[in-house]
Amino acid sequence: MPRLVLLSAALFAVACGNPAARNQPDIDTQLAAEIAKIRAVDNHAHPVRPTAAGEKPDDEYDALPVDNLEAQSDPVRQRSSSPEVIEAHRRLFNGDKAKIAGAHGADYAVWILDQLGIETMLANRVAMGPGLPESRFRWVPFADALMYPLDNQSLIHNPDQKAFFPLEERLLRRYYAECGVAGKPATLAAYLDTVVRPTLERHKNAGAVAEKFEMAYLRTLDVGNPTRESAEKVYATGAGDYKALQDYIFRFIASESGRLGMAVHIHVAHGGGGYFNTAWANPLLLEPLFDDPSLRKTTFVMIHGGWPFTSETTPLLSKPNVYVDFSEQTAFNYPRDVSEVIRKWLEYVPEKVMFATDAYPFSPEVGWEEAGWIATNTGREALGLALSGMLRDNEITRDRAVELARMVLRDNARKLYGLK
Ligand SMILES: [Zn+2]
Repeated sequence: MPRLVLLSAALFAVACGNPAARNQPDIDTQLAAEIAKIRAVDNHAHPVRPTAAGEKPDDEYDALPVDNLEAQSDPVRQRSSSPEVIEAHRRLFNGDKAKIAGAHGADYAVWILDQLGIETMLANRVAMGPGLPESRFRWVPFADALMYPLDNQSLIHNPDQKAFFPLEERLLRRYYAECGVAGKPATLAAYLDTVVRPTLERHKNAGAVAEKFEMAYLRTLDVGNPTRESAEKVYATGAGDYKALQDYIFRFIASESGRLGMAVHIHVAHGGGGYFNTAWANPLLLEPLFDDPSLRKTTFVMIHGGWPFTSETTPLLSKPNVYVDFSEQTAFNYPRDVSEVIRKWLEYVPEKVMFATDAYPFSPEVGWEEAGWIATNTGREALGLALSGMLRDNEITRDRAVELARMVLRDNARKLYGLK
């Protein structure tokens, strides 16, 4: 039986820097104790699958890994020299990560979840496998590759895209193979029927709870509503408005995901890589899609909550089928900043707000474990600060504050994905 380690309030205060040095009203201690006890559902992360000695190291934790791009200026909290990274490493491994990993073997990833106080982690990965059991990890595969069935040379304008598109093409070839299709079918109808729909159904049957789009790394989040005829023509000829074809395929995937009971996760925020176009990731670009009556049976989750456009995210929560998580913010931003974002959302539509870490293997020093440690503690501290502020301002009762903490850390996600 895995050892259960719940985070203590004191621990997450220490791990997240030095709150005493900041001039702030502190977290209500009773609330902090309640928050520390809650075993969370992590709405978005990239756990690395533990592999045995001699086995190929796992490389399926992302369809578009950002750890091999041209150098960028890393946010200060993510640098290997960051005191929080060093502290996370010490707390988890006491200086010897390899020894701890070896001691836990195939149970290592589950052991890490226990250290992070996470009951269930949504694993955004190309594929699952041994070491990531469904009892603790639920799959979120990638759908972007399906949007780019043509020659993608015209979409490459910078070194990041030059690295990304061949990876999407490789994943699409894998989807072709898994569907038993030799290559690109001749017509759009055949493509949708023999590749796109069967891929989504296969994901669903393998346990997927959502499909993930990393679209903003490749193009704008502005999804139009082209006619079937125009999309068919572009598909068949390879000429004309390629974006219209992508938009058509995206809508087909969103609609099918709704039919299959899978949510649609969209990266909505600034992203990794020195060429990331932040304006392409503005959540307001998604509003026409969210307002389309034909897609109201599809649940959309704005992964990362739209940072830095977090105010723009807030009104979108009034759409009945739109949710949000604060992953990535918990990795890159400080608890005070994250708490202000969370408070805005909790004061608006709290049933749609979800905790998440974006635990990701950023570098040799900042693995998914250290990133997860920083993010789980930042998320809990930020939530505590937000709720303590609402309590002090008489917006909510103490009981409601505890209820909101449970909703954000666990219950909203459980309800959305039908988790036990
Ligand atoms: Zn991610």
